Amino acid sequence: MRLDLNATLIFSDDVEPAKDKIKECLEESNRDLLKRGVPEDVEDGGANVRAHSIEKENLHLHIISDRYVRAHDALLRLKKQLNQELGPEFHVGVRDVDIEDYIIELELERLPKREEDLKLPFVERLEFEDDMCSMSLSSLSEERLAKNYVDRIINRLREKIEAQYYEGKEEKWELLFKSEKKDMVWREDPTEVMDDRGWIKRGPTKGKWFYRPEAAKILKTLERIAVEEVLKPLGFEEVIESMMVPFDVWIDTGHMEGIPNEAYYVAEPSTRNPDEWAEIIDEIKITKEVPLEKLDEMTDTPKAGICYAQCPVIYWSLRNETISDDSLPLLLYEDTVPSTRYESGGRHGIERVDEFHRVEPVYIGTKEQLTKLKDSLIERYTYVFDEILDIEWRMAKVEPFYLQQAGGEREEEEADLGTIDFEAYLPYRGSREDSEWLEFGNLSIFRKYTESFNIKGQTEKLLSGCTGIGIERWATAFLAQKGIDAEKWPEGFREHFGDMPKGIELL
Ligand code: ATP
Ligand code: ZN
Ligand code: MG
Repeated sequence: MRLDLNATLIFSDDVEPAKDKIKECLEESNRDLLKRGVPEDVEDGGANVRAHSIEKENLHLHIISDRYVRAHDALLRLKKQLNQELGPEFHVGVRDVDIEDYIIELELERLPKREEDLKLPFVERLEFEDDMCSMSLSSLSEERLAKNYVDRIINRLREKIEAQYYEGKEEKWELLFKSEKKDMVWREDPTEVMDDRGWIKRGPTKGKWFYRPEAAKILKTLERIAVEEVLKPLGFEEVIESMMVPFDVWIDTGHMEGIPNEAYYVAEPSTRNPDEWAEIIDEIKITKEVPLEKLDEMTDTPKAGICYAQCPVIYWSLRNETISDDSLPLLLYEDTVPSTRYESGGRHGIERVDEFHRVEPVYIGTKEQLTKLKDSLIERYTYVFDEILDIEWRMAKVEPFYLQQAGGEREEEEADLGTIDFEAYLPYRGSREDSEWLEFGNLSIFRKYTESFNIKGQTEKLLSGCTGIGIERWATAFLAQKGIDAEKWPEGFREHFGDMPKGIELL
């Protein structure tokens, strides 16, 4: 990597009188300050001020560097050094930093497939030749350099190039367990049949359902089974969180960059003063419609989203905390807040909706504690799926393609981490072999969240994880295999369910 920076340090006053001192300071820095951090076996590494010129209060610098002391870090080091050296004698200090141009040449593992798709903020020009990329950056301020934008720009570029290679590739899927084959009661799509019977009603907005007493009782029973038969025996305790998630939390979990296209956003009214709402209210009273453009003016740009998964706010609640050894492993679950996702064209039945209900257990502990917990959770789940729901299901280790790139050593170290999906056969979709099974739950262990939320243990490093219990998905898995006639349901489920509600007769 070669970094080539032209920048100007703008002092509080004329620095021409200090030109000898500046020259001396830059020469000394080239020998020492700009070499700090270079590994011993690297010859001639670090940054180097190739040229400088002084004009009134401006000190122009041309800095060339390698990756060990990046040119912009060199610039910031020089600013500090010059302030120290010139301040006492010449009574001047750096007031401003102007980045004129910054060209970075870096080696790539492979060339992009489509250069035109690589537009990035702060990148004015990108050129590729052989295995090299030259990029020219603009609009960078001192603050942005200090905040490490440059590294992130480079990482993002590499990420986008890699993404062009794994586009369309399947995620890794490795079967871990498969239940016995079960007899299927029918081959109907349970959503359609429940809709016909009036147990559920589509709406009132896209991808939502209203569950009438019969369907609501099925969902609530499954939820209770999950809590009573999986979570309570393992010692999980219930928490209640807010459904609105500020962006800083989603920045720390990665959701903000991962799923901005699936999130629902929350807008606050720009004022609560009723007088300022008078015009809209009048119009609503007269037209019986909401004047959307006016409403847009009266609401703020969203600064939060609605829950996508419950775990981010649980992590937020523990941000920067140290958890006592006695509380470990920490076993919590949230079962109050629904999740929303803009599924758009993917919507189907009650199993892929824009608003769904999920019990989300979150666990934090040492690696040893969590790998043990994982086994216990799988054991409880197995009991529920086999003995209570009596469904045909399987378990697979999954890994999105981009994570597989990490490879090698990391893979071995992370062998116990990662994600397991629970999948159920849906007979209405076709044969066991050719149809897609439904992911109705998952279980993960992560390193990243305790790191990004700075959640610490007293003695050991902590990991975290969560396991999503999607109630609509459990219901679909169960009903697609067992039908909706209570008499045909397995004994175990019938015991938990009790009597079918009377429901509503509509004429
Ligand atoms: P998919 O690949 O099916 O979209 P996902 O990977 O987005 O699933 P996760 O983010 O892992 O799902 O969510 C955890 C659980 O939440 C899933 O196992 C499932 O039970 C449930 N879930 C996710 N999205 C939906 C949805 N749109 N409708 C109903 N349940 C959902
Ligand atoms: Zn989660
Ligand atoms: Mg999804």
